[in-house]
Amino acid sequence: MYRGRFAPSPTGPLHLGSLVAALGSFLDARSQKGEWRLRIDDIDPPRHDTASFRSIPLCLESHGLTWDGPIIFQSQRREAHEHALSTLRSGGHLFDCLCTRATLGELGACVSHCRDRKDIEGSVRFHVPNDAPDRINDLFLGEQRASARPSNFIVKRRDGLIAYQLATAIDDLDEGYTHVIRGADLLESSLRQMIIHQALGHLSPEYGHLPIVTDQSGNKLSKQTGAQAIDTDTPNTNLRRALAFLGQPTPPEDMDCIDDLLHHATANWRHDALNLRNL
Ligand code: GLU
Repeated sequence: MYRGRFAPSPTGPLHLGSLVAALGSFLDARSQKGEWRLRIDDIDPPRHDTASFRSIPLCLESHGLTWDGPIIFQSQRREAHEHALSTLRSGGHLFDCLCTRATLGELGACVSHCRDRKDIEGSVRFHVPNDAPDRINDLFLGEQRASARPSNFIVKRRDGLIAYQLATAIDDLDEGYTHVIRGADLLESSLRQMIIHQALGHLSPEYGHLPIVTDQSGNKLSKQTGAQAIDTDTPNTNLRRALAFLGQPTPPEDMDCIDDLLHHATANWRHDALNLRNL
């Protein structure tokens, strides 16, 4: 059974780019009669915007994007994350690293041989083996190859917080997603998460990457940089904009009810119509 998810970080209200990711993952799941879950990725408290814990679910509901089951909070999964860290450590996949931003090499990799040191307290990094996957068979884009593979990446921060790559890799496995549909800005992250899955001896979900919405200067819209919040009073217009961005057929003009609009979009959801020019 297909199970997908939308997993926003609570760092601000949803903007058009987040709506596109939510809608794309929703339609992919519903078009295959699958489940669609909502997980709030709240593992980085310094970046949280308290109001968004409420505004994100409300915004999805006002657009008819209703999820199955209770909202999942990533912060409540700490024990599972720590357990995965100790399994990875026993398997020899992790090392402690004392580097700071200034001493890290290209792609944020540790190049200071921290891996050879003993008894240091710093961040924890995953050592990427030479035979780790370097390509993804993307559902929408076909085979995608990483421009470069990092030799290591962070899984637990120096301040003790679990890093995004680890938390997401573990939760996506434990929550049983068969499909992870999200923005193409996360392609390299998908690869890192697949590398973690492989080290744990698990198969990864299928990945599909959607085009991302950019501002006039070509930068990805982002909650942190204050992208304009979705106006929850105009869900029909917003959904039509998001559908058009995804290259999907335009619903009939007189379709005022958002549930009808979503049914139409679900029935007409086409992978090959995705507007990949924006990648
Ligand atoms: N929580 C992250 C974000 O909002 C990533 C979501 C994901 O893994 O799909 O960008």
